[in-house]
Amino acid sequence: MSEPLLSMRGLTKAFGASRAIDGVDLDLSQGEVHAIIGENGAGKSTLMKILSGAYRQDSGTMTLDSLAYAPRGPGEARRLGVAMIYQELTIARHLSVEANVMLGQERSRLGMVKKSEHRRLVTGALALLEHPDIRPEARAGDLSVGAQQLVEVARALVSDARVIVFDEPTSSLADRDAARLFEVIERLRLKGIAVVYISHFLEEVRRISYRYTVLRDGRSVGTGRTSETDLSAIVAMMVGRDLSEMFPRVPHEAGEAILDLSGLRVATLPCRADLTLRRGEILGIAGLVGAGRTELLRAVFGLDPVRAGVVRVAHIDHGRATPGGRISQGLGLVSEDRKGEGLALGRSIEDNLTYSALSAYCRWGWLNLRSRRAESSRWMASMRVKATGPSQPVGALSGGNQQKVALARLLHQRADILLLDEPTRGIDVGSKAEIYRRLGELAAEGKAILMVSSYLPELLGICDRIAVMSRGVLSPARPVGDWTAESIMEIATGGVDV
Ligand code: ADP
Ligand code: MG
Repeated sequence: MSEPLLSMRGLTKAFGASRAIDGVDLDLSQGEVHAIIGENGAGKSTLMKILSGAYRQDSGTMTLDSLAYAPRGPGEARRLGVAMIYQELTIARHLSVEANVMLGQERSRLGMVKKSEHRRLVTGALALLEHPDIRPEARAGDLSVGAQQLVEVARALVSDARVIVFDEPTSSLADRDAARLFEVIERLRLKGIAVVYISHFLEEVRRISYRYTVLRDGRSVGTGRTSETDLSAIVAMMVGRDLSEMFPRVPHEAGEAILDLSGLRVATLPCRADLTLRRGEILGIAGLVGAGRTELLRAVFGLDPVRAGVVRVAHIDHGRATPGGRISQGLGLVSEDRKGEGLALGRSIEDNLTYSALSAYCRWGWLNLRSRRAESSRWMASMRVKATGPSQPVGALSGGNQQKVALARLLHQRADILLLDEPTRGIDVGSKAEIYRRLGELAAEGKAILMVSSYLPELLGICDRIAVMSRGVLSPARPVGDWTAESIMEIATGGVDV
């Protein structure tokens, strides 16, 4: 094997008493895409900030092209050929694409900016991106998030980067932008650039990386060729536990029927849904995106009008439903879009937990803040929310912890029927496993859980029964043992009549 382009040896970095990075070795070769995988807090970003000069390691060394590499800051790292594309973009929105690309690396002679050279460099870099919206004179703020990210890539190209680090680049991208990014990464690789790709989305890692390194608690716990390693083995390395512990099963038993849908129809989709949900069961709804699953939950919760059919809660038809009415009947919804309509990210955890059931703390128009804080702490502990305290803004939490707050809110409002739309999407495996366990415990307490998910392993892993939605039609719910991933997909894609 040829000499690595970049080597890290024995890197450590502590913040106060906690070791974020604890003796990491890593080699990067020219023209490889190397994935750094790990749960939240594993140390991925810290390691890459050392590489890109944002942090200085406490001990350990790095070499670039066999020469000692110890950048004193991101600027020096860039000059030496290492660029990092951050999760939060650093684009100047009011400037043009060209100005953004050249920012901090203007070419000038005798105090004059060399405009024609700028245009040549920028055009050259943009050619590699092949993005129709990214023109040198376009205003950066008008571009999509994905395109803005590519502008940062252009900036790295102009600085002749040999190593480009992407820190969870797809977490805020639409599918189309993500696909485009993968193509760009492939072209960077072919140019001989070493790409480091941080992610906890394993399917993505599988798709684009040649090698991977798994970090856990600041240590490298495994490295290898991506194509030669099972996803389940990688998951086991990430979480430090077995895959059977990924879907912990808490014994629970289905009881009386508590939610009954018959012939339910909504304006667009679903066009036919019949379902009976019982206490103490987890019922999954599979299907393709756009099949009408979200709309089904919204209609049951009173967010969208029901066109035909009946929803009975504990055998009672309450007529036209509103979300407020449904909450008082014991329903709760965790929406798919936890940022848009689920949680108020700027508000504190306790505000988010309690706002749907504030009256418990109100006496004669006063809000009892102390009891509210105590209750919030209790629910946070029950969901194992990792945060500095109830007053921390929800937006500062990791995705997994945000989702736990959203679930805790339903528990706080004493919901008996939990409607969950993609409850684990975009969160790390460790938080997923915790949420699965908690759902099992809730079922054991007699709650009824109706869960929409596009992630088949979790439906098969934790549900008691599964129904499949295909173009607005819900199949009968069958015991999980009757299903396989293939039989679910067959119905979801409309291949089989039910
Ligand atoms: P990852 O990117 O894998 O999620 P990070 O590198 O961000 O992990 O964090 C690793 C550990 O270091 C975490 O425990 C985190 O809380 C801590 N940490 C990261 N940055 C800082 C900081 N600036 N100050 C204090 N602690 C930090
Ligand atoms: Mg990070």
